[in-house]
Amino acid sequence: MRVESESFPEKLKEIAIEIKEMGGKSIGIQLPDGLKRYAIKISDILTKEGFEVYISGEPSFGACDVDMNLLDITDALIHIGHTPLIKNERIFYMPYYIDYDIEGVADALDLINGEDVILISTAQYAWKLPDVKKFLEENGFNVELKKGGRGTLPGQILGCSFKPAQGRGEILFIGDGRFHPLGVAIRYGKRVVTWNPLTSETGEITPGNFLKRRYAILSKCYELKSCGIILSTKPGQRRLTLAGKAKEMAKKKYTSDIVVVDNLSNEKLENLPYDFYVNTACPRITYDDADSFSKPLITFHELEMLTGMREWEPYIIDEMV
Ligand code: SF4
Repeated sequence: MRVESESFPEKLKEIAIEIKEMGGKSIGIQLPDGLKRYAIKISDILTKEGFEVYISGEPSFGACDVDMNLLDITDALIHIGHTPLIKNERIFYMPYYIDYDIEGVADALDLINGEDVILISTAQYAWKLPDVKKFLEENGFNVELKKGGRGTLPGQILGCSFKPAQGRGEILFIGDGRFHPLGVAIRYGKRVVTWNPLTSETGEITPGNFLKRRYAILSKCYELKSCGIILSTKPGQRRLTLAGKAKEMAKKKYTSDIVVVDNLSNEKLENLPYDFYVNTACPRITYDDADSFSKPLITFHELEMLTGMREWEPYIIDEMV
């Protein structure tokens, strides 16, 4: 399996030309944890191009998570590993794509009922979806592959944006991990068939115990007295209006304040006195990282349920579209 780090030098040089053209002399580099090991290699390439290079030591959880502090001290920022989301002429996105043999998808075809398929994937794998579509069509399927929400590639979903999965037919997810297909299964109330090109594993994801767990958390919050409304300062997670609405709504039942954070973690909340938190930052933290928090973390829609503004069913997943 070939990964795209091999094409880093070429892509970095292309971006370097653009930054030079705008008169830039210093560059900040931001990498997700899984790619931080390439920092020296990248710094070396850009230093040889004549730039002053600064490496971000901050985490980078997604396309929305841009290190604006680093941009304050540099002329441009290269954000590696995600597809473009924040529009700013000084931010250059350099996605990271994984190559795979698309014919392996044949292993998942027995799990698909009928002939209509909606194809979805995450940033690293979605670039090959047009080839997968062609392969499936050659095998007799009608395939829907479309852009939507916060993704930039056809079929690309994010942990906070599932629009390309909307439509008629069975949903086929290509990628690794459970979180994204689970989000889609909850969002559209449908089973999602999965194929992992790295391990060749196939499977099917349904909401299963997820909803039971969410309702158990809500029942616990129902009896509590105070809540903190989390507002993120990250450019692509800052939902100021939603946080304001949440505070107004929470007042009906709880003592509440807006709590402002950059990286949301249990440590940041430990000394605060609130009984539970309404998270308006990345929805994935509420759903996927809940176990690392000592106090319950809920979404805006879940607060609506607690305050009587929304029925408890159907369950609405937190999305940023
Ligand atoms: S909000 Fe969360 S899921 Fe959405 S792009 Fe940012 S890190 Fe990814």
